[in-house]
Amino acid sequence: MKSWIETPSGSDFPLENIPFGIIEYQGRRGVATRIGDTVVRLSVLAHHGFLGFLTGDQLQVFEAPELNPFIGLGKAVTREVRLRLQELFREGNSALQSRADVCRQAFIPVREAVMRMPVHIGDYTDFYSSIEHATNVGKMFRDPANALLPNWRHLPVGYHGRASSIVLSGTPIHRPKGQTRPADEGPVVFGPTKQLDFELEMAFITNGSTPLGSSIPVEKAEDYIFGLVIFNDLSARDIQKWEYVPLGPFLSKSFGSIISPWVITLEALEPFRIDGPTQTPEPLPYLRQSEPANFDIQLEVALQASGCRPQSICKSNFGFLYWSMAQQLAHQTVAGCNIQVGDLYASGTISGSEPDSYGSMLELCWKGTRPLKLPDGSERTFLLDGDSVIIKAYAEKQGLRIGFGECETTILPALP
Ligand code: CA
Repeated sequence: MKSWIETPSGSDFPLENIPFGIIEYQGRRGVATRIGDTVVRLSVLAHHGFLGFLTGDQLQVFEAPELNPFIGLGKAVTREVRLRLQELFREGNSALQSRADVCRQAFIPVREAVMRMPVHIGDYTDFYSSIEHATNVGKMFRDPANALLPNWRHLPVGYHGRASSIVLSGTPIHRPKGQTRPADEGPVVFGPTKQLDFELEMAFITNGSTPLGSSIPVEKAEDYIFGLVIFNDLSARDIQKWEYVPLGPFLSKSFGSIISPWVITLEALEPFRIDGPTQTPEPLPYLRQSEPANFDIQLEVALQASGCRPQSICKSNFGFLYWSMAQQLAHQTVAGCNIQVGDLYASGTISGSEPDSYGSMLELCWKGTRPLKLPDGSERTFLLDGDSVIIKAYAEKQGLRIGFGECETTILPALP
């Protein structure tokens, strides 16, 4: 597919992608898509009748300050909008191209576009669905011979997190403070974390709501998934280690998590659908799926020390996950928990089997025992103030590339 809108080769955002996000333009937020390096304001196209199959209130969704009303129209409508946009932007279609007045209002060069949080996130769940990550953490903190807890291969382990501290790529995060106990039998102290870490994750966003008490069957789960973003779940390992017993992570994970600005639809990712790892033992019937439900999305993490060039420190893949998104959502709702439009479900750290595919500093540096060397000669076992973490994600095969752009944050010193 080729577009009459210039798309640099190797762009994350060719005509086949059509992501959705929120931009701020002249003091107002609204829904946008992106093609190549051009951001397109959908409210302008709707106003001029280019999305004419939508009616009345449906046309207002593009003027909302978040994607929730748009994605809440449901998959049948959002899929239609995406196809219509592809049609309008396709080479040979002059309907929009010939309207210079509309294009002038609707098109903004990406360097001038101010991105905002794509969705209002109501609830947020963090899963723990990478068997390599769970095994590594189990080896480090529990019993190397029994790294996985007995439930792990039977259900997608997860916990409910804070939605309020999820922020947009480009937002810096202050080093968190908290209680730690540096030595096992030593004193408990308070201060800035000394073990600040990133977690390489992806997250999906739901497009529907369900009544309390109902559950979503695994084979219907993808109907409720609008799309995905990159997710960096910053973590303070020393705070986590002291606070998580007996209930799980709390303040060590709620001081800042970062998402990428463009939501990539499941439809755009369809060509990259693959089988996940073989599940042994076979899951219970409510988690069983017959079709491939993983997606081959390449993930890269770079660490950039202040004043240095970025250094690639990890290459992983979303397809490594043991539990699929459909299984996660089926499990999330099986007890009767209702879901809402704009909820966010993170995958958990995505590690592969090779040491350079581990999705956190904790694993890459194996609890501080194998420091990473940076281009300026300095070493890291955890993140220092001034460090930036840049995560990229893209699916690619046979000349087709569907990318997510990037998810970036910089660590600032702890506040006094
Ligand atoms: Ca996490």
